[in-house]
Amino acid sequence: MKSQEVRSKFLSFFEEKKHSIVPSAPMVLKDDPTLMFVNSGMAPFKEYFLGNAKPKNNRIADSQKCLRVSGKHNDLEEVGYDTYHHTLFEMLGNWSFGDYFKEEAIAWAWELLTEVYGIDKDILYVTVFEGSEEDGLGMDTEAFDIWKKYISEDRILTGNKKDNFWEMGDQGPCGPCSEIHVDIRSAAEKAKISGKELVNMDHPQVVEIWNLVFMQYNRKANGSLEVLPNKHIDTGMGFERLCMVLQGVQSNYDTDVFTPIIKEIETITNKTYQKEEKIDIAIRVIADHVRAVAFSIADGQLPSNTGAGYVIRRILRRAIRYGFTFLDKKEPFIYRLVGVLSNRMGKAFPELKAQKHLIENVIKEEEQSFLRTLEQGLVLLNKIVEETSGDVVSGEKAFELYDTYGFPIDLTALILSEKGLSLDEKAFNQELEKQKARSRAASEISTDDWTILSEASEETFVGYDVLEATVNITRYRKVSSKKDGDMYQLVFNTTPFYPEGGGQVGDKGYLEDTHGDVVYILDTKKENNVIIHFTKNLPEHLNESFKAVVDSKQRHRTECNHTATHLLHQALREVLGTHVEQKGSAVHSKYLRFDFSHFSKLTVDELREVENFVNRRIEGKLPLEEKRNIPKEEAIADGAMSLFGEKYGDTVRSIRFGQSIELCGGTHVKNTADIWHFKIISEGAVAAGIRRIEAITNDAVKDFYFENNRLFFEMKDLLNNAKEPVKAIKNLQEENTALKKEIDALLKDKAKNVKANLKNELEAINGVQFLAKKLNLEAGGLKDVAFELGSQYDNLFLLFGTEQKGKALLSCYISKALVAEKGLNAGQVVRELGKYIQGGGGGQPFFATAGGKNPEGIDEALVKAKEYIL
Ligand code: ATP
Ligand code: MG
Repeated sequence: MKSQEVRSKFLSFFEEKKHSIVPSAPMVLKDDPTLMFVNSGMAPFKEYFLGNAKPKNNRIADSQKCLRVSGKHNDLEEVGYDTYHHTLFEMLGNWSFGDYFKEEAIAWAWELLTEVYGIDKDILYVTVFEGSEEDGLGMDTEAFDIWKKYISEDRILTGNKKDNFWEMGDQGPCGPCSEIHVDIRSAAEKAKISGKELVNMDHPQVVEIWNLVFMQYNRKANGSLEVLPNKHIDTGMGFERLCMVLQGVQSNYDTDVFTPIIKEIETITNKTYQKEEKIDIAIRVIADHVRAVAFSIADGQLPSNTGAGYVIRRILRRAIRYGFTFLDKKEPFIYRLVGVLSNRMGKAFPELKAQKHLIENVIKEEEQSFLRTLEQGLVLLNKIVEETSGDVVSGEKAFELYDTYGFPIDLTALILSEKGLSLDEKAFNQELEKQKARSRAASEISTDDWTILSEASEETFVGYDVLEATVNITRYRKVSSKKDGDMYQLVFNTTPFYPEGGGQVGDKGYLEDTHGDVVYILDTKKENNVIIHFTKNLPEHLNESFKAVVDSKQRHRTECNHTATHLLHQALREVLGTHVEQKGSAVHSKYLRFDFSHFSKLTVDELREVENFVNRRIEGKLPLEEKRNIPKEEAIADGAMSLFGEKYGDTVRSIRFGQSIELCGGTHVKNTADIWHFKIISEGAVAAGIRRIEAITNDAVKDFYFENNRLFFEMKDLLNNAKEPVKAIKNLQEENTALKKEIDALLKDKAKNVKANLKNELEAINGVQFLAKKLNLEAGGLKDVAFELGSQYDNLFLLFGTEQKGKALLSCYISKALVAEKGLNAGQVVRELGKYIQGGGGGQPFFATAGGKNPEGIDEALVKAKEYIL
């Protein structure tokens, strides 16, 4: 059975059982502080499980893109080494939100596997939760009794909390689960040892394919469990593993999900899969990782240096490294796999097809830059090796290479072992641990349970229409972190505060109670659909009503920038072409930032045209036309664009100014005239094929012009009010160049004089012409003098010291003849004497210099110099 059919059979089976089929949510999460990526099918439905929102249908089925590369679920290091864990995989799931429970979930799973897919019952095992003393829970006999109806009792195994109790995180909905395992070994293998012994034992052919989770508890902050009022079903089946079973192969990589990609890797690299283990691992790593990276970029997450972007960069670098090391690929090639991938999966995931070029470009550029890093790292590593005296290379140095230059440690270890050296791994790991402890301490957060003040219905947002409202606090909790100290999070029954989202910053403002006490709201954010207000202090009269007031000035400036962002988007598509797509935005009160796909730097003319386009729409006084709660199709029919990687609800809001129409949840000015003026302040590249514009509006433009004007007059003033300031500056520059030339000539003369005098100061000791002296010359001058004298004597030992701008410098010159005869070495001299000036240096045996931060030590170094020839 082809993989496409496997997927569609799953979905149509559950559609028949009255489930709504929904598309996969974007993989990168935006409103969840506890999770960067969707790591299981349930993540996009968290708000339903938490009871913060209600689904339209309480039965849903889908195939969800999941990524397990960070946090609680991290399979990254397994990937490539085994044949059934991926970074990115599809999880097929059916969901019941307070509707059916164990009975149906088990019956349908069984029917689908054995009847629809026709899997032989004799290769299946199931597990049930054995109970847990610390949680006061007994065995899940309910599930056990249901399973007995379908499968013989000796194929029902019990499992512990680790395998059979599913938890979303440290807190939140959880419950026992039943896993379904397959045993796809040969009959001969099965005769040797029963599959029963191999379940959950990491055997590559006895693997879990489906997990049915019975959500019936809520884990509280103190670790205790409470029974959920509504019970839910959350199931997840690994799509690639299911394909392996149904296609009768022994590895996920032998299914049609992967074989085309592997073929392409074989062609490009001229290597053969399944001949040599090391090469196989590398091929699997690359086949897997290109999917993860391509899907992330399609969802709007580009590789970067922080957060989710950094995780993606690390995945791609892992693939590059395996290609570099085991497949001998020293030039970019992973980007060339995107074509096959988008051909294979573009139907189920249109975002891949639509953004193929962008994905290729971004991956290619990342490959180029990391390959450069690797080349540079190799040079640095060689240097470290040269400086190593024994056969163990310092762990600290390897750590520096890893931490500062991004050179992978496993590559370091490999290269060293090829050279017959080893790495001090203990010291390396110590450094790594120290670094981890530092970042852990910086990011540690403790979160209390919510204190519920009233069981309010859903929180309503009224901030599109008003900036002030009477509100009640429905719940609050304390959150403590090193970074922010203690903070309180408040949830209201209704709120005028806009929560950060869609690029727009969260509102600030204050709460005032009837006694006149005020508490400041420092930020507003959304967490899984709940609007959370951050304060430093907890209000005193928690149960009373408050006047909630949004900082209207900040909000207005932000709105000007948000509306300008829409106009800018429109302008770019108009001026540059419709290939321009939004790739990210940040709308602050002070400025706006807009990232978009485009392949070259904007010319001055293009920038001006874009700016004019926006300003014409501002002058056109276009009114805001807003439609709330309309079906997405209606907005699209009006001409609104939807963005990849954005999660849209059942209904959307559309924002229109003239011909600019966007799906948007943000807040906007009532009329474009409010913006006053739009000014681009920078344009540059963010990544291959992605440009960034930063711009300002309204008051910020006035400040900008005012500031520039002030600067201009200040400069003019400095130029004695020159009529033509540009010409005046040019004159100054010419004068400056001429003066520099004159100074150079004078300095040379001075050096000549110094040389003549120095000759008289040479001291003959043991057949050496010796001089150690402090001179008032720069480094170049010292060298000139030394070499000039050097050309006149062949038994010279010179040490010069100088102090320049508070720093110390030593230069040592030793005639080549002395170097040879007496074994003297200028490099060694400056290294040793460098300690007096608290610095170091080096060079060649006949000439070397050292710099240091302690000029006071120069005299002592000069005195010590004589010892070398005594
Ligand atoms: P395993 O023990 O094999 O790592 P798991 O217990 O982590 O599996 P769940 O969290 O229960 O798995 O996920 C549900 C299903 O998703 C699994 O039954 C499996 O089929 C699939 N799955 C889990 N992790 C991966 C992965 N890294 N790659 C591919 N499929 C996976
Ligand atoms: Mg796992």
